[in-house]
Amino acid sequence: MPGILIFALCFLFASCGKQVLPPQTEYVLGTVCSVNLYDDGTRENYIDVFKRLNEIDNEFNVNKPTSDISKVNSDAGHGPVAVKKEVYELVRLSKEISLATGETFNPAMGALINLWGIGKDNQRVPSQEEINEAINHCRPENVQLKEENGSYYIEIKDEKTALDLGAIVKGFASDELAAMMEERKIKRAVIDLGGNIYCFGQKSSSNPDVLWKVGIRNPVDTTSDPVETVSIRSGSVVTSGNYERYFIENGKRYHHIIDGKTGWPADSSIASVTVVYERSVICDALATACFVAGGKRDFEEKLGLKGIKFIWVDDKGKLTER
Ligand code: ADP
Ligand code: MG
Repeated sequence: MPGILIFALCFLFASCGKQVLPPQTEYVLGTVCSVNLYDDGTRENYIDVFKRLNEIDNEFNVNKPTSDISKVNSDAGHGPVAVKKEVYELVRLSKEISLATGETFNPAMGALINLWGIGKDNQRVPSQEEINEAINHCRPENVQLKEENGSYYIEIKDEKTALDLGAIVKGFASDELAAMMEERKIKRAVIDLGGNIYCFGQKSSSNPDVLWKVGIRNPVDTTSDPVETVSIRSGSVVTSGNYERYFIENGKRYHHIIDGKTGWPADSSIASVTVVYERSVICDALATACFVAGGKRDFEEKLGLKGIKFIWVDDKGKLTER
């Protein structure tokens, strides 16, 4: 009898006793990425999640010479470069968002971003002449897309123009992970890619009315309590802020979100913009765009979308929600 019991217990354990790991964290996409898969947090699922993030990093990272984007940049002015379909698609969407946002979000700003080098060893305040020169090489229309016989190409028509998808790729990556979770029937997860948050699935298995809560950091004093808490059923919450990456010279802060019209770090009175929507890729790009534009604009309408929530905090700590 005990033998049968042990056998039955072993069988039960083997069939439903999958080992669940704690949330996992890895440095990828140039930031700290944490994923919590809760009850579906098997070793295999976590391995695949971070494999996918590394794959995306290898395609889009401008600091990796072998990435598709780096290959396109280094061949600028010298003809089309074959890229993966998803690279083509994200550049296409980036151009569309750039058009809809009056280029406040602009994926072709590599020349200016490299000139400032914010967050890198070579960061510095460039001369106005250098800025004026770089501004001439940030036109999204110089990035051309071509699809031919099932192959995808990107061509930059000007030698000094470069793509930089740093303001959208974390959103794209979050959506990709959410799609993977959907496919695997993972019940709930929190994806945090350097503060780019995606809450996937139903928070409570027993009560559908329990919402996810995401705090918005106080951009004026990042050590204090959140300025606001967003409650969502599921979806993404993304913030762009002037406190994320910057350097200080002669008492002035130079942060990493550049206004392509002036060539200087965006200088509206906004300290952070948070965008809440089901698609993280839209949140990410629009958070950057609204930060540069200085608040909510008609971007949502221009993109033909609905139901996006915008929350912005000015440099005095005042919060506006729309
Ligand atoms: P974070 O990456 O800190 O979450 P963002 O999503 O706002 O913040 O992206 C900022 C990054 O995007 C910069 O580091 C730079 O690589 C790039 N970038 C800066 N300004 C712009 C802009 N106006 N449009 C598009 N990309 C930008
Ligand atoms: Mg962004």
